[in-house]
Amino acid sequence: MTQRTNLLDFTLAGLTAWLAARGEKPFRARQVFRWIHQRGVADFGAMTDLAKGLREKLEEHAEIRPPVIASEHRSADGTVKWLFDVGVGNGIETVFIPEEDRGTLCVSSQVGCALDCKFCSTGRQGFSRDLRMGEIVGQLWVANRRLKEMLAEGGTVRTPSTRTPAEGEGEARRAVTNVVMMGMGEPLNNFGPVVDAMTVMLDDHGYGLSRRRVTLSTSGVVPYIRKLKEALPVALAVSLHAPNDAIRSRIMPVNDAYPIAALLDACRDYLEAAPRDFITFEYVMLKGVNDAPDHARELAALLRSVPSKVNLIPFNPFPGSGFEGTEMERVRRFQKVLIDEGYVATIRKTRGGDIDAACGQLAGQVVNRMKPRAVRIHPPSPRI
Ligand code: SAH
Ligand code: SF4
Repeated sequence: MTQRTNLLDFTLAGLTAWLAARGEKPFRARQVFRWIHQRGVADFGAMTDLAKGLREKLEEHAEIRPPVIASEHRSADGTVKWLFDVGVGNGIETVFIPEEDRGTLCVSSQVGCALDCKFCSTGRQGFSRDLRMGEIVGQLWVANRRLKEMLAEGGTVRTPSTRTPAEGEGEARRAVTNVVMMGMGEPLNNFGPVVDAMTVMLDDHGYGLSRRRVTLSTSGVVPYIRKLKEALPVALAVSLHAPNDAIRSRIMPVNDAYPIAALLDACRDYLEAAPRDFITFEYVMLKGVNDAPDHARELAALLRSVPSKVNLIPFNPFPGSGFEGTEMERVRRFQKVLIDEGYVATIRKTRGGDIDAACGQLAGQVVNRMKPRAVRIHPPSPRI
């Protein structure tokens, strides 16, 4: 039997073309797309406003095949973490973080990561493969469905109490109001599928999220920052983590290929199209490495030429990392230097720490296929 086509692998344009090849009009594609993404329906038989002939065609040739949940953990603070089985021993993680005014889903883009940042648990696992588009958008599809089920069960799950009109009518998708591409993997190293998945997130017939509510976090793969500006300029967060090249190269090998000056150039360029008028710089506080008040002053001088917001991240430890986190008092001192220099600087609240769902703790299950020490900076076959 030939495998059916997984409709989660399509943008609306892709689905329109696929259905056109089967003699169906574009508005049919919009209908099907809305059933899938707005209502979270997987059963073609339940798509009641479709003609019977179309439903039969879909049943024969298509399916909605999301990644399979291997486990689900709920943190005391309301955070939910899923481990998805994506085949042959590989697992990826997705985290839902509820807050008063929003529900943020942290989505993975690769199984593992090849960039080998020294402080990152995902990097430590090595790299297995890129996720397909349907596996990326599928994390959002499943999360919305599960959160809706949890709400219906009256469980402990928390979802935002206030909603914005942008979330529209759909019930299921309301739980997730924001997406951050900050799970496992370097999203810009899986450019085509990540852009396609975000296209569905932004589509009015899909999840209808605005470009400000979808944030891509990158360790700084410069050429692809420039391509993202052309393709789909969503909010950008950059993992800087150091005030100079010497420290950055020590903890992030990607800096050897794209040093700070080139990275900041790309950020300035990106701002021309960005939905926000600043770049968020992430800075993980590592004891004795990058956390001195002098480093804060150096950072302030460095970022002078880029409209920025700095997000200080307390280091989340994992076994054998070799790093320690900076004490909170010292993190606050670092923050104060930045504020005194005129920056908006925040300290990220650690969420889901009790279920290993915090930044940098996502280990998933990675069958490492990299040779020891091979750091893959460029994606093998950019599809843009
Ligand atoms: N690959 C992308 C996105 C995933 S990582 C990137 O690097 O930006 C998401 C964020 O978590 C990044 O800022 C990353 O540097 C940070 N991070 C990684 N390991 C961490 C750890 N152990 N503690 C705290 N933050 C960490
Ligand atoms: Fe990859 Fe990001 Fe982890 Fe670095 S911090 S190893 S780029 S996931």
